[in-house]
Amino acid sequence: MNRVYNFNAGPSAMPLEVLREVQEEFLDFNHTGMSVVEISHRSAAYQAMQDETETLLKELLHIPDGYHVIFMQGGGSMQFILHAQNFLRHKGAYVKTGSWSSKAQEAAKFYGATYELASGEAQNYKAIPLLTKDTVDLQPDTDYVYITSNETIHGLEWKTFPKLGVPLICDMSSDFLSRPVDVSQFDFIYAGIQKNVGPAGCVIAIVKDEFLEKARTDIPPYLQYATFVKKDSTYNTPPVFCIYFVNKVLHWLKNLGGLDVMEARNKKKAKLIYDVIDNSQGFYIGHAEKNSRSLMNVTFNLQTPELEKRFAEEATKADLIGLKGHRSVGGCRASLYNAVTPEGCEALVDFMQRFQTLHS
Ligand SMILES: *Cc1c(COP(=O)(O)O)cnc(C)c1O
Repeated sequence: MNRVYNFNAGPSAMPLEVLREVQEEFLDFNHTGMSVVEISHRSAAYQAMQDETETLLKELLHIPDGYHVIFMQGGGSMQFILHAQNFLRHKGAYVKTGSWSSKAQEAAKFYGATYELASGEAQNYKAIPLLTKDTVDLQPDTDYVYITSNETIHGLEWKTFPKLGVPLICDMSSDFLSRPVDVSQFDFIYAGIQKNVGPAGCVIAIVKDEFLEKARTDIPPYLQYATFVKKDSTYNTPPVFCIYFVNKVLHWLKNLGGLDVMEARNKKKAKLIYDVIDNSQGFYIGHAEKNSRSLMNVTFNLQTPELEKRFAEEATKADLIGLKGHRSVGGCRASLYNAVTPEGCEALVDFMQRFQTLHS
């Protein structure tokens, strides 16, 4: 077996320990004599596992009372639609920090009025705006402010979150569980799990009860978050394998020491790569402004698209996979999610330095 260094943006690297455990248990889940994908989602064995997953998540994120955790099928893009169907009554305010927040607003427009509270588009999405009650122009009847905690394609990440006196919705798909967050600042959080926490096909959402009370009820029950809360995420068949996998990842996170430890580890990893960029005398050009840099997705350019292509190709030959930037923006991107090891980052540092020496 030859495992490569995986810098894919999503789906992406998962912890080797978890992959091994899943493999070992795959034919016999918890002494049932069946695989986890063969048992009923109404069975006691399954229910116990899903309950434990929820408990672990509450523990790791210190989710306060007054919030519910739900598991849904579909990806982040489905939530671009659902958050608006549920919560958009008058106006939704969107902070445009990159591709994903833009897509969320585009989808929400089908369900009601939206406006841009701030946008980094004119500057080609290089920085997260600083938003305060005094500097933003919140319109009357704004139901919520919508932000994207980590812009996966442009490589920007919010370091602190705005406090604007209206409900805050956050897409945390690409930095979920990479650092501690104060859940009480948010009214609705969701994350497609395939970047940091599991296989594609499932979304974890955390909803504040008070906010949910204001949600629309004139849409089909399956599209209402309230249904998932009421039915404990088993209104219909949940994505059982995904939830099982998340359970394993949460145990892994807990055993490593939780989110504070993970954040410290992620900071060290990202610093290794950003230092190479900053010390390269312009050979590597970082995309994001320093105080908006993502710990999850390091985006950078080289002098020419040809050199960038060469960089990704030669990296692949050295078993460093997934360094090509998103097709919409080009350049290079190294995704350093939780499961990417410090050794993997060191291998990338070595490669980047060697590549610079050879090509400058
Ligand atoms: C990947 C991603 C999405 C879209 O996820 P899909 O599951 O492919 O729909 C949405 N938001 C963010 C921040 C992402 O990184």
